[in-house]
Amino acid sequence: MNEREIESRVAELLSSLPEYVMLAAAAKTRTPQEVQAAVRGGVKIVGYNYVQEAERMYEVIGNQVKWHMIGHLQRNKAKHAVELFDMIETIDSVRLAEAVDRRCANIGKVMPVLIEINSGREANKSGVMPEEVEALVKEISPLKHMRVQGLMTMGPFFDDPEKTRPYLKATKELFDRLSEAQIENVQMRYLSMGMSDTYEIAIEEGANIVRIGTRLFGERPY
Ligand SMILES: *Cc1c(COP(=O)(O)O)cnc(C)c1O
Repeated sequence: MNEREIESRVAELLSSLPEYVMLAAAAKTRTPQEVQAAVRGGVKIVGYNYVQEAERMYEVIGNQVKWHMIGHLQRNKAKHAVELFDMIETIDSVRLAEAVDRRCANIGKVMPVLIEINSGREANKSGVMPEEVEALVKEISPLKHMRVQGLMTMGPFFDDPEKTRPYLKATKELFDRLSEAQIENVQMRYLSMGMSDTYEIAIEEGANIVRIGTRLFGERPY
């Protein structure tokens, strides 16, 4: 897809979203020219799955956008991750939370984080199991250098996007339950779910961050 087309796809998608919904452009594998085009189209948040790939793109794009970590974060990458990212959407264990907190303490930063839910309970996927999220949030909520601000989920992949709806709905229910629990230091603001094929369903089910790649940039190259 050429740059003009990316720019206009972004603008078109943004104008179709309810104003409270934030778009995170899922930019894995894209070139600097492609990501620049998305920024010209109005992208304000860029999501990356790997710290190193984000670092390379940060060299080009810098602080024109906010940077979200949307892939599984390895603890040994926490130092670099906290220097770059404005939000980590994929906290899924106490040990990872503690590593992020410690690295943030070193640089005097308070990191907004989301908890990744393994809503499909898939063995090969990261994320915390739905029944474990409340205990996790309670345990990490006292950490001084991070703020839990919501939940993120991928959900299982189906050819028919409608089949993901129950997993998105269940994640929204968890989100509401955590809001009602009023855990100190926790503000449930963001629910990040929905990708190219599922974002409309996700918004119907309560998402206010959608993470979209293919629909903006075209199919990913191998
Ligand atoms: C790639 C990716 C997306 C976007 O997927 P598309 O189908 O290309 O829109 C969203 N979230 C995560 C975590 C991703 O890795």
